[in-house]
Amino acid sequence: MVYDLERGCQDYQMPKTAPAANPVFFRTYSNQEISSVSRSTANPEHKQRQEAAVEALMQPVNAKVQDLLRLSRTLSNTDPRTENITVPLAHYQGGIILESLGREGPSFRADDVNRTISLNRETAINLVRMVPKEWRVYALLVFLFHDVAHSPQGLKHHEDVRRLKITHESFGQERMGELDLRNDFLAVHTISLYGTLKECKAYNHRNYIARFYLIWNEVCGSMLDAFPPAQRKDKQQRVFGFLLMSNLINDAHLEKRPLEFEGEMWPVWDESLSHLSILSNGHILHPGSPVDSQLMAQIIGLISANQYREAAFGIKQVW
Ligand SMILES: [Zn+2]
Repeated sequence: MVYDLERGCQDYQMPKTAPAANPVFFRTYSNQEISSVSRSTANPEHKQRQEAAVEALMQPVNAKVQDLLRLSRTLSNTDPRTENITVPLAHYQGGIILESLGREGPSFRADDVNRTISLNRETAINLVRMVPKEWRVYALLVFLFHDVAHSPQGLKHHEDVRRLKITHESFGQERMGELDLRNDFLAVHTISLYGTLKECKAYNHRNYIARFYLIWNEVCGSMLDAFPPAQRKDKQQRVFGFLLMSNLINDAHLEKRPLEFEGEMWPVWDESLSHLSILSNGHILHPGSPVDSQLMAQIIGLISANQYREAAFGIKQVW
């Protein structure tokens, strides 16, 4: 069952499964759990069951998308950036389907003839497994919205990303990381805006923050656990930015502080780790502030070891 995000406006209540602080966000899977999961997927019956379970989620996903599109004009009036998601979605009216695109294949495929969007079935199964049951439809919506938002960025097809990285590998990687974090924001932002507009009939900031907090932690946080340890700089930047945003949305929701971001917070640090800049929406939000380089080195070490709780705590001292 999908938790009904549309219920209650002013007195918006968190679902029972919501973290008191954010333990779900920081849940890590032991190697033993991961290997038992991969063992169980080798069983064909189990695989079929998993496929059927994900397939069953596509009907509520499609229904949610259609409902969101009915609000697209109001969404756009509230924030035109939502068009990065609603315009491509409105184009693919043939529906959203699952397709076997391979474990190493693209996460999604746009078909301009049939006007359908295919999500990679294997990726969808992995994703759904990482996320608490009541958040699975939202996990697929975040996955879908993230990917369609690449289309107006000039990266409609998997091939475009590959070509970008050929031009200049580290530039391409860093640019992709920044766009990925932007699309994570855009996806959660659009779903949260949709929820609050539908329920409150107008934008309600506290209601929006509560929704963003839940989806960022429950859905994206659980997905983050599925990533392998980040050894590459662009991957570390993405996790750092994610954790920084997580700290700020937690402060805004749990401590009723003002929300300090309106887009992704992309961190850039120098080689000596003595200065940190934050980019947002392609602009400089904070130009090179001096930071404690030892602490920065610790944080990056923790990120590359998947110790996200400790890394987020370190980021709190830096920012
Ligand atoms: Zn992406």
